Parts: sequence; structure tokens; C-alpha cells
Amino acid sequence: MKVVVLAGGVGGAKLADGIARILPPEDVTIIVNTGDDFEHLGLTICPDLDTVMYRLAGMANDETGWGRAGESWRTIDAVAALGGPDWFRLGDLDLATHLVRTNKLRAGESLTAVTQHLCQKLGIQVSVLPMSDQPAPTKIQSNDTIHPFQTWFVQEKWQPPVTKVVLPEDVRATRSVIRAFETADLVLIAPSNPFVSIDPIFNVYPIAALLEDLPQAVIAVSPIVGGQAVKGPAAKMMQELDLPHTSRAVAEYYGERIDGFVYDVQDAGSCDNLEVETRCLDTMMVTEADRVRLAQEVMQFAEEMLSN
Ligand code: GDP
Repeated sequence: MKVVVLAGGVGGAKLADGIARILPPEDVTIIVNTGDDFEHLGLTICPDLDTVMYRLAGMANDETGWGRAGESWRTIDAVAALGGPDWFRLGDLDLATHLVRTNKLRAGESLTAVTQHLCQKLGIQVSVLPMSDQPAPTKIQSNDTIHPFQTWFVQEKWQPPVTKVVLPEDVRATRSVIRAFETADLVLIAPSNPFVSIDPIFNVYPIAALLEDLPQAVIAVSPIVGGQAVKGPAAKMMQELDLPHTSRAVAEYYGERIDGFVYDVQDAGSCDNLEVETRCLDTMMVTEADRVRLAQEVMQFAEEMLSN
């Protein structure tokens, strides 16, 4: 079965890793949000792509949830000592990724090609694709102020209340992304933030239309567990956007885009009578074994749905 996983960073990377560990690599494509990407200290930083790559390569930093394991911070501390910005922490090892990526982009390579190169060097066998090769910056409107995404997320620690998530117009998918959807039997929406990780992917033309037209099954996994986000601002954003911060509201938000919905055992009973098929599972992925188990259970659910 050919599987496409739509992923942001932390939650997306964990499910992507579980899927990558149980399926043949040629059957797996991870399409990653690039709405969080930005230029910083002269470098092109792609936080979600990096989180996914480091997780798939077995070099993710489990303590921070982002960046590389065994990291040191001498360069960014030296940047701060020179009066440079240090609010976005770039580790010494992580910097190598940004240097190589930026160098290749400046030489005219596409982000898709650069990502393929980095994955190959990191020993990643599944296909990891940026959602687009065009810049597609997400912005956060907080009352009268529009923040660039990382200013809001990291510098402001996602505290300014969200009035609206502003997504760019006219962003186009690459041929590789379109082909992945056209050949997919199953699309999994990872337990990522629906507003700032998954919506930016739907916003890329013609991904939303492809999802509607193609016969594959689309299954989402809830990032909300027990009424809270496991990490990050998803639940806070739901409140600010006048949605209940529940798994059920996530399923309803995805609406007709999905055919199936996986939600956590902590929320058992809360997703009865939805329009889509549902499965209540332990969705907390702390260890590698958790990631593999959830991936297996989600695939089992998908196989049952597809055989009906
Ligand atoms: P970001 O771009 O790094 O913020 O990453 P994502 O959007 O991919 O992931 C953030 C979302 O992942 C948050 O809403 C979390 O609640 C969710 N998340 C993180 N870890 C887990 C997990 O183990 N299980 C589930 N169900 N959700 C998770």
C-alpha cells in the first residue's frame, strides 16, 4: 500500500517515523509543512523538515523535541556575545544542515532536491518532500499585529492570542508532491497542529482538490489528547479561534477532508456519531515502540476501512 503522511514537526515526525519503520521505504512519502521556514542569520531554516529528517535518521533530540541529539551551543552563544540574535537556538551540529541547505539553494537547487540530498546523506530511505519549492510563509494575526510565524512561535513563545492564521496565496505543489498524491492508496494526517502545520499543506494548490478527487482513504490522528495539546499551542489556538479544544472538534474541523479519525483513549467515548469512521487508540508516542505500535494500529484501521 502506498502511503502519504502529511506532517508538521514534532507530532508529525513521530507518526512518520512509526510508519517508516513498518512499511517498505518505496511505499512511504512524507509531505512536510514549510510554512514555518524562515531566513535567519543569513540561513534558510526549515524547522519541520529538520525535525522530520532528524527523527527518521534516529538523531532527534528527545529532551528538547527539536534539533539534534548530543547537541552543543557554542556558536549561538558566541553569536549572542557579539550582539547577534539568539532567540532562535541553533545548535552547532544543526547549523551544518542550515549551511549545506542554504549553500545549495543559493547555487540554484530546489528545496526538494536539497532535501533529497540531505536525506540521502542522513541515511533516510523513505521519500521526504517539502510541500512546495516556493516560499510559503505562514503569518499569525494577533488583533492588529501580524507576526512572522517564528517571531510569534519562538520569540513571543506563542503568547499573543491568535485572531487569524494568514496563509499565502498562489503557492504551488511540486510535481513530486502531486505524483505522490496521485499514486497514494492512503493519506495519513499526522497528529500535527491543524492550523499551522496541516492547513498550510492543504493551502498549497492543488493539494486540497487532489484529496477530494482521488479515491484514497484519508485518516487523521488527533493532536489533542485529554483536551490538551501534547506539546505546543494547538489547544490554546482552538480556544482563541472559538473552537472547543477537543479531539471531536479536530475531526469536525477536518470535516469532509477525512474519511477516518483516530483519537486517544483518554478521550474514549467523545467521538461517537461522527460522520467519519473512528478508532480510539493510545496515541501517545513517547518511545520508538510507541511510534511503531501506533503506526501498526493506524495501518490496521486503514486496511479495514479500505476493505469495506
Ligand atoms: P510543530 O510544527 O513542531 O509544532 O509540530 P507538529 O504540528 O507536527 O506537532 C505539534 C502537535 O503534535 C501538537 O499539537 C501536539 O499535541 C501533537 N503531538 C506531539 N506529540 C504527540 C503524541 O505523542 N501523540 C499525539 N496524539 N499528538 C502529539
